Amino acid sequence: MSFNELGLPEAILRAVAHLGHESPTPIQRKAVPIALAGGDLLAAAQTGTGKTAAFAMPTLARLGARGAHGAPPRALVLTPTRELAAQVAASFRDYGRHLPLQTEAVYGGVGMFPQTRALRRGVDVLVATPGRLIDHLEQRTARLSNVEVLVLDEADRMLDMGFLPAIRRIIAMLPANRQNLLFSATFSAGVRRLAATLLRNPAEIDVAPRNSAAATVTQRAFHVDKDNKRPLLVHLLRTGGWGQTLVFARTKHGAERLSDQLEREGILAAAIHGDKSQGQRTRALDQFKQGRVRVLVATDVAARGIDVDGLTHVVNFDLPNSPEDYVHRIGRTGRAGASGEAISLVSSEERAQLKDIEHLLGRTLSAATIAGYEPTHPAVSGSQSQPAGVRRRHTPGVNPAGHHGHRRDAGGGRTHGRAHTPARKGR
Ligand code: AMP
Repeated sequence: MSFNELGLPEAILRAVAHLGHESPTPIQRKAVPIALAGGDLLAAAQTGTGKTAAFAMPTLARLGARGAHGAPPRALVLTPTRELAAQVAASFRDYGRHLPLQTEAVYGGVGMFPQTRALRRGVDVLVATPGRLIDHLEQRTARLSNVEVLVLDEADRMLDMGFLPAIRRIIAMLPANRQNLLFSATFSAGVRRLAATLLRNPAEIDVAPRNSAAATVTQRAFHVDKDNKRPLLVHLLRTGGWGQTLVFARTKHGAERLSDQLEREGILAAAIHGDKSQGQRTRALDQFKQGRVRVLVATDVAARGIDVDGLTHVVNFDLPNSPEDYVHRIGRTGRAGASGEAISLVSSEERAQLKDIEHLLGRTLSAATIAGYEPTHPAVSGSQSQPAGVRRRHTPGVNPAGHHGHRRDAGGGRTHGRAHTPARKGR
């Protein structure tokens, strides 16, 4: 299928051609015709599927050739983080480059005044984080009385971040007659509840099977002692032939320390997390995008929405607290059909978390140890040598005592064993 068949106006097709997209992604194929027809939408799509364009293109088409000329916004997009707001706004500008429409992003961590000035000049598409939008509404520097299209992007994450009350306040200020597009990586009960109150006869679309990771991402887990994680990461960065690598740490402090330690090892690294100013975060992200630093160490919240072309590797230095975060994290690589690799460094303390992730994914991850970095307490019995000093470990039907025997089991379909990799006994 080509973009020409989606029913988009010529100005947007020209912008798409300029961006070099050859054909619409599955989410675009499904979402664009429905949104163009004016219907509400409940869409399950992860970052990397082309979801931003899936709502930006029809929204821009709807606003069409009527520019703002000082009027309040006609489209409102809510996003969980500043980074995502900035990126979504950039996408609207990209796809709308041949339309006389103004897009602005408003988010916290930077001064209100430049945003107020832009809002006063007139904005057609307003992309906002909920908290900062509330600030503008309270100061009466933003008006929502003309909004025709509301987009909630990464709704699950907004709910996780506690934005539900703010979202409700914002929705209460919108005209009743409008189009609603809700995008979410996962459909949690909270998202379903929000969708039920917000959407009218929505079409429901689901591109990748829910909670599954992008097929283009190879996922591997390396069992290693906690204290050996950093040396192992340095080893992999030095010998693995990896390109730009995004490393996830659980805490702000941990992210900062790891980035310092990598720098001391001579690996160019930067950290982004919630304690950094917006300027520092933007600078670190730019350096990473331009390849001036090779490793970006981030916390989950700070990394939300990061979209870096050619990101080859995502490393879970610490496993995420929730299995859903794992799916979000690894969605940073393998984007729009490119291949990527997601590596999880799993300490014995984190094996239960690994099980939970595997439970969500509905499959076990390829697990291995690296020669010289084997854990003191092997995760499993039996192993298989891998090239380049990588040893595969697996447990046909064995659930190692004391580690996660108490955890909930998959209950239907999932096997503990890694039957797809033959065991070699007696090592
Ligand atoms: P998203 O899922 O919105 O975060 O988009 C992920 C990446 O896919 C972005 O870098 C987009 O520029 C890119 N992209 C979006 N649509 C297409 C397409 N139809 N063909 C190729 N790349 C695309």
